[in-house]
Amino acid sequence: MADHDAIVIGTGQAGPGLARRLVAAGWKVAIIERKFFGGTCVNAGCTPTKTLIASAYAAYLARRAADYGVTIGGPIGVDMKAVKARKDAVVRPSREGVERSLRRLKGCTVLEGHAQFIGPKEVEVGDEVLRADKIFINVGARALVPPIRGLDQVPYLTNSLMMDVDFLPPHLIVLGGSYVGLEFAQAYRRFGSEVTVIELGPHLIAREDEDVSRAIAEILKDENIDIRVNSKVVAVAKQGNEIAVTVENAGTSSQVVGSHLLLAIGRRPNTDDLGLDKAGVATDSRGYIQVDDQLRTNVPGIWAVGDCNGRGAFTHTSYNDFEIVGADRDHGHGGREPSVRERRDKGLHEDSGRQGDETDPRGVAAGTFGGRGHPLHPRCYVYQGAVHGPASGGAHSPDSLGVHSDHVGRPQAAVVSDTRRNDLILGT
Ligand SMILES: Cc1cc2nc3c(=O)[nH]c(=O)nc-3n(C[C@H](O)[C@H](O)[C@H](O)COP(=O)(O)OP(=O)(O)OC[C@H]3O[C@@H](n4cnc5c(N)ncnc54)[C@H](O)[C@@H]3O)c2cc1C
Repeated sequence: MADHDAIVIGTGQAGPGLARRLVAAGWKVAIIERKFFGGTCVNAGCTPTKTLIASAYAAYLARRAADYGVTIGGPIGVDMKAVKARKDAVVRPSREGVERSLRRLKGCTVLEGHAQFIGPKEVEVGDEVLRADKIFINVGARALVPPIRGLDQVPYLTNSLMMDVDFLPPHLIVLGGSYVGLEFAQAYRRFGSEVTVIELGPHLIAREDEDVSRAIAEILKDENIDIRVNSKVVAVAKQGNEIAVTVENAGTSSQVVGSHLLLAIGRRPNTDDLGLDKAGVATDSRGYIQVDDQLRTNVPGIWAVGDCNGRGAFTHTSYNDFEIVGADRDHGHGGREPSVRERRDKGLHEDSGRQGDETDPRGVAAGTFGGRGHPLHPRCYVYQGAVHGPASGGAHSPDSLGVHSDHVGRPQAAVVSDTRRNDLILGT
């Protein structure tokens, strides 16, 4: 049995920072990853989607070249193998960077494999049993697969499976009209797919204000994306080489037939196979680990950080969880940082400015900066996706959904001023 001061499960946005912080405080730490170092954001979320979006934006702009007085002698083509290769080339260094930095960390043992609790202070990874008084869970979430009739009989894509797509789906049907679904919808439409978005609720991106949602719908409709709101998917079935989706809308049933189906209707936490019952850690009915404001679970000595605690589903909220737990360890400082939306509701100041730095990963993804790839400092609360333009008070721009761009296509970031947490910020 190997003994450690702390075990960190998962290498998402909170785990690696936490491992570094604890090692710096003299702790002996073990960190465990079962798949890709860097987790969702690096491998199947923020970075790759923004990279795809940048390629899509280039295609979009090329088609509009004449609007700018630029002549292109021939039709615009998109090489999907090259698009994927570019995405992989942006993702790989980030993933490898996370792994390398952890392996170089003196006092930190890196294990690869699936971790599960076998007791409140014991975690099993393959044949190995690790013991520690402090355990930090950073296991993230994955795409939710809903119990739709026939779904087990048809092939479907998720955000993770989309990472392997190196071809153009003739007609992509996207279930779910929120951030993830719409990013893919717009990108693939710009690559040349026909795209239909099916959303259960009355608005796209229901969490946003209605005017934002309306503006997004207009942008997408202008690009000939078929948007169906108030539409409930009741069944899916194979129809020859295609997939037929049966949709109910106001008591009427209809079918949408497409070549590929993408599920983007929500996330579920990676807690079902973690042995939480062996440790006695409580979850809510959807599997999210219940935590207090210090991110402590109901079991002393066990914390849950990032998406798996259900208190945020963003890179910066996960990183912020690390700050809370890390601060708690070192300074006895605590309290959860409010989300961007909470800050806005409280009238906290927001600046809109450009991230004019070649270390901005969105700059790297967008191809507007060189190749260095340090993470954007998490204090820069970059609005994601569609809320970016309108919410930052910038000009409403139909140019890009995922990366708000000015007229030369450089990414801009909306940054929330934060003077209260200077004491807690770590370099990355
Ligand atoms: C398509 C998409 C686009 C996104 N775009 C943005 C964006 O633009 N901006 C933004 O802020 N957020 C975005 N997000 C959300 C963001 O990616 C997540 O909120 C963030 O990555 C969550 O980080 P995390 O630290 O909670 O966990 P994760 O990054 O999910 O990491 C969890 C890690 O734990 C590992 N793990 C799980 N279970 C075990 C186990 N039992 N044993 C060992 N290891 C385990 C996993 O393999 C994974 O590596 C996007 C998400 C998606 C899906």
